[in-house]
Amino acid sequence: ELDDLVRKQAKIDETGWTGVNERTFIAVKPDGVQRKLVGEIVRRFEKRGFKLVALKLVKASEELLSEHYWELRKKPFYSRLISYMSSGPVVAMVWQGLDVVKTARKMLGETNPAESLPGTIRGDFCVEVGKNVIHGSDSVESAQREISLWFRQGELHRWESSSKNWIY
Ligand code: ADP
Repeated sequence: ELDDLVRKQAKIDETGWTGVNERTFIAVKPDGVQRKLVGEIVRRFEKRGFKLVALKLVKASEELLSEHYWELRKKPFYSRLISYMSSGPVVAMVWQGLDVVKTARKMLGETNPAESLPGTIRGDFCVEVGKNVIHGSDSVESAQREISLWFRQGELHRWESSSKNWIY
Protein backbone atom coordinates (compact mmCIF):
# COMPACT_ATOMS: atom_id res chain seq x y z
CA GLU A 1 0.00 0.00 0.00
CA LEU A 2 2.91 2.30 0.81
CA ASP A 3 4.41 1.34 -2.56
CA ASP A 4 1.14 2.37 -4.14
CA LEU A 5 1.26 5.76 -2.47
CA VAL A 6 4.88 6.30 -3.48
CA ARG A 7 4.06 5.39 -7.08
CA LYS A 8 1.05 7.72 -7.10
CA GLN A 9 3.15 10.57 -5.72
CA ALA A 10 5.89 9.92 -8.29
CA LYS A 11 3.30 10.11 -11.06
CA ILE A 12 1.96 13.41 -9.72
CA ASP A 13 5.50 14.85 -9.44
CA GLU A 14 6.28 13.72 -12.97
CA THR A 15 3.30 15.57 -14.43
CA GLY A 16 4.20 18.68 -12.43
CA TRP A 17 0.68 18.98 -11.04
CA THR A 18 1.74 19.95 -7.55
CA GLY A 19 2.55 23.14 -5.68
CA VAL A 20 1.40 26.24 -7.52
CA ASN A 21 0.67 24.04 -10.56
CA GLU A 22 -1.89 21.88 -8.78
CA ARG A 23 -5.15 21.62 -10.68
CA THR A 24 -8.71 20.68 -9.85
CA PHE A 25 -11.85 19.93 -11.80
CA ILE A 26 -14.87 22.05 -10.87
CA ALA A 27 -18.30 21.82 -12.47
CA VAL A 28 -21.34 24.01 -11.95
CA LYS A 29 -24.10 21.39 -12.05
CA PRO A 30 -27.32 21.83 -14.10
CA ASP A 31 -29.18 23.38 -11.15
CA GLY A 32 -26.36 25.90 -10.67
CA VAL A 33 -26.58 26.92 -14.33
CA GLN A 34 -30.40 27.20 -14.14
CA ARG A 35 -30.15 29.30 -11.00
CA LYS A 36 -27.66 31.71 -12.65
CA LEU A 37 -24.91 30.93 -10.19
CA VAL A 38 -22.13 30.57 -12.79
CA GLY A 39 -20.84 34.13 -12.45
CA GLU A 40 -20.92 34.05 -8.64
CA ILE A 41 -18.99 30.76 -8.55
CA VAL A 42 -16.37 31.84 -11.09
CA ARG A 43 -16.00 35.09 -9.16
CA ARG A 44 -15.25 33.26 -5.91
CA PHE A 45 -12.46 31.21 -7.50
CA GLU A 46 -10.97 34.24 -9.25
CA LYS A 47 -11.07 36.35 -6.11
CA ARG A 48 -9.53 33.62 -3.99
CA GLY A 49 -6.50 33.84 -6.29
CA PHE A 50 -6.83 30.75 -8.47
CA LYS A 51 -6.09 30.68 -12.17
CA LEU A 52 -8.65 29.60 -14.76
CA VAL A 53 -7.10 27.03 -17.10
CA ALA A 54 -10.19 25.72 -18.92
CA LEU A 55 -13.90 26.44 -19.10
CA LYS A 56 -16.79 25.17 -21.23
CA LEU A 57 -20.56 24.75 -21.21
CA VAL A 58 -21.36 21.08 -21.90
CA LYS A 59 -24.31 18.75 -21.92
CA ALA A 60 -22.70 15.70 -20.33
CA SER A 61 -23.51 12.34 -21.91
CA GLU A 62 -24.59 9.42 -19.74
CA GLU A 63 -21.44 7.65 -20.86
CA LEU A 64 -19.22 10.47 -19.57
CA LEU A 65 -21.20 10.67 -16.34
CA SER A 66 -21.02 6.94 -15.75
CA GLU A 67 -17.23 7.17 -15.94
CA HIS A 68 -17.17 10.28 -13.80
CA TYR A 69 -19.32 8.69 -11.08
CA TRP A 70 -17.93 5.14 -11.46
CA GLU A 71 -17.26 4.83 -7.73
CA LEU A 72 -20.90 5.58 -6.90
CA ARG A 73 -22.40 3.07 -9.35
CA LYS A 74 -23.76 0.83 -6.56
CA LYS A 75 -25.37 3.66 -4.57
CA PRO A 76 -29.17 3.77 -4.30
CA PHE A 77 -29.23 7.36 -5.61
CA TYR A 78 -26.99 6.60 -8.60
CA SER A 79 -29.61 6.66 -11.38
CA ARG A 80 -31.17 9.83 -9.96
CA LEU A 81 -27.71 11.37 -9.89
CA ILE A 82 -27.09 10.54 -13.56
CA SER A 83 -30.43 11.96 -14.69
CA TYR A 84 -29.89 15.10 -12.59
CA MET A 85 -26.41 15.63 -14.03
CA SER A 86 -27.59 15.08 -17.61
CA SER A 87 -30.74 17.22 -17.26
CA GLY A 88 -29.06 20.32 -18.67
CA PRO A 89 -25.73 21.91 -19.47
CA VAL A 90 -22.98 22.07 -16.87
CA VAL A 91 -20.07 24.51 -16.73
CA ALA A 92 -16.91 22.43 -16.63
CA MET A 93 -13.77 24.18 -15.41
CA VAL A 94 -10.17 23.58 -14.45
CA TRP A 95 -8.66 25.83 -11.77
CA GLN A 96 -5.01 25.95 -10.84
CA GLY A 97 -3.04 27.09 -7.78
CA LEU A 98 -1.41 26.10 -4.50
CA ASP A 99 -3.51 23.47 -2.68
CA VAL A 100 -6.40 24.15 -5.05
CA VAL A 101 -7.98 20.69 -4.59
CA LYS A 102 -8.30 21.01 -0.83
CA THR A 103 -9.13 24.70 -0.86
CA ALA A 104 -11.86 24.23 -3.46
CA ARG A 105 -13.47 21.51 -1.33
CA LYS A 106 -13.52 23.98 1.59
CA MET A 107 -15.06 26.62 -0.66
CA LEU A 108 -17.74 24.13 -1.80
CA GLY A 109 -18.77 22.98 1.68
CA GLU A 110 -19.98 19.48 2.56
CA THR A 111 -21.71 17.06 0.16
CA ASN A 112 -24.92 17.63 2.11
CA PRO A 113 -25.85 21.33 1.98
CA ALA A 114 -27.46 21.05 5.44
CA GLU A 115 -24.01 20.36 6.86
CA SER A 116 -22.32 23.14 4.86
CA LEU A 117 -21.39 26.29 6.72
CA PRO A 118 -22.71 29.65 5.55
CA GLY A 119 -19.99 31.26 3.47
CA THR A 120 -19.41 28.08 1.47
CA ILE A 121 -20.99 27.72 -1.97
CA ARG A 122 -23.32 24.90 -0.91
CA GLY A 123 -23.90 26.58 2.45
CA ASP A 124 -25.00 29.77 0.72
CA PHE A 125 -26.95 28.54 -2.30
CA CYS A 126 -28.67 25.21 -1.75
CA VAL A 127 -30.56 22.97 0.66
CA GLU A 128 -30.69 19.46 -0.78
CA VAL A 129 -27.97 16.86 -1.39
CA GLY A 130 -29.62 15.84 -4.68
CA LYS A 131 -29.36 19.45 -5.97
CA ASN A 132 -26.08 20.65 -4.53
CA VAL A 133 -25.07 23.07 -7.31
CA ILE A 134 -21.38 22.25 -7.75
CA HIS A 135 -18.81 19.48 -8.12
CA GLY A 136 -15.16 19.60 -7.06
CA SER A 137 -12.51 16.84 -7.21
CA ASP A 138 -11.82 15.22 -3.84
CA SER A 139 -8.08 14.49 -4.34
CA VAL A 140 -5.21 15.31 -6.67
CA GLU A 141 -5.57 11.85 -8.24
CA SER A 142 -9.29 12.25 -8.92
CA ALA A 143 -8.59 15.73 -10.29
CA GLN A 144 -6.17 14.26 -12.83
CA ARG A 145 -8.64 11.54 -13.77
CA GLU A 146 -11.57 13.96 -14.06
CA ILE A 147 -9.67 16.61 -16.02
CA SER A 148 -8.57 14.08 -18.62
CA LEU A 149 -12.11 12.70 -18.77
CA TRP A 150 -13.80 16.07 -19.36
CA PHE A 151 -11.14 17.94 -21.37
CA ARG A 152 -8.86 17.36 -24.33
CA GLN A 153 -5.25 18.49 -23.88
CA GLY A 154 -5.78 21.42 -26.28
CA GLU A 155 -8.59 22.81 -24.15
CA LEU A 156 -6.25 23.37 -21.19
CA HIS A 157 -4.73 26.78 -21.68
CA ARG A 158 -1.25 27.96 -20.82
CA TRP A 159 -1.08 31.60 -19.86
CA GLU A 160 0.87 33.72 -17.40
CA SER A 161 -1.12 35.50 -14.77
CA SER A 162 0.40 38.91 -14.02
CA SER A 163 -1.19 38.87 -10.54
CA LYS A 164 0.85 35.77 -9.68
CA ASN A 165 3.53 37.79 -7.88
CA TRP A 166 0.88 39.35 -5.68
CA ILE A 167 -0.47 35.97 -4.64
CA TYR A 168 2.73 33.96 -4.08
P1 ADP B 1 -19.16 15.15 -3.46
O1 ADP B 1 -19.86 15.65 -4.70
O2 ADP B 1 -19.29 16.13 -2.31
O3 ADP B 1 -17.74 14.72 -3.71
P2 ADP B 1 -19.99 12.33 -3.48
O4 ADP B 1 -18.87 12.03 -4.40
O5 ADP B 1 -20.18 11.46 -2.27
O6 ADP B 1 -19.95 13.85 -2.95
O7 ADP B 1 -21.36 12.28 -4.28
C1 ADP B 1 -21.44 12.80 -5.58
C2 ADP B 1 -22.75 13.50 -5.76
O8 ADP B 1 -23.82 12.57 -5.64
C3 ADP B 1 -23.07 14.57 -4.70
O9 ADP B 1 -22.44 15.80 -4.96
C4 ADP B 1 -24.58 14.65 -4.82
O10 ADP B 1 -24.98 15.42 -5.96
C5 ADP B 1 -24.96 13.20 -5.08
N1 ADP B 1 -25.30 12.52 -3.83
C6 ADP B 1 -24.46 12.12 -2.85
N2 ADP B 1 -25.12 11.54 -1.83
C7 ADP B 1 -26.44 11.59 -2.18
C8 ADP B 1 -27.65 11.15 -1.56
N3 ADP B 1 -27.65 10.56 -0.37
N4 ADP B 1 -28.81 11.36 -2.22
C9 ADP B 1 -28.84 11.95 -3.43
N5 ADP B 1 -27.73 12.39 -4.07
C10 ADP B 1 -26.56 12.21 -3.46
